[in-house]
Amino acid sequence: MVRIARDRIATLFALAEEEATMGRSELADRYVGLARRIGMRYNVRLLAEYREVYCRGCSAYWLEGRTVRTRLRSGRRVRTCLRCGRERRSRLRRPVPRSRELAEAPKSTRALPVEVESGPLDEETDERVEEVGPEDP
Ligand SMILES: [Zn+2]
Repeated sequence: MVRIARDRIATLFALAEEEATMGRSELADRYVGLARRIGMRYNVRLLAEYREVYCRGCSAYWLEGRTVRTRLRSGRRVRTCLRCGRERRSRLRRPVPRSRELAEAPKSTRALPVEVESGPLDEETDERVEEVGPEDP
């Protein structure tokens, strides 16, 4: 039964995508709603790839630029549903791209100041401070 449920969910999401790209978003949203209900009925978690593409508030199928807006805000991705306004925030794994870090690193092996006798060095703290700015200006 669970297998059948998974198949149906996959089918419904495929249909939802198809309808959404054709501009029939009411149908797409309906398919998402059905898929979610099947998932709940049979206690089947939706695959991660499916969980990314719909709104948890109103089951709208998210099509970039049409039903969802994606913005980057202080290192996290914020997706706003254009149907109901619900936001979904996800942390980005790597706020600074690796290539930029390397570009900013000193290129030459310059002589480092050795003579500086300073107080106890601060251990470089791994900052994991949640900095959430004001949501709505
Ligand atoms: Zn929504």
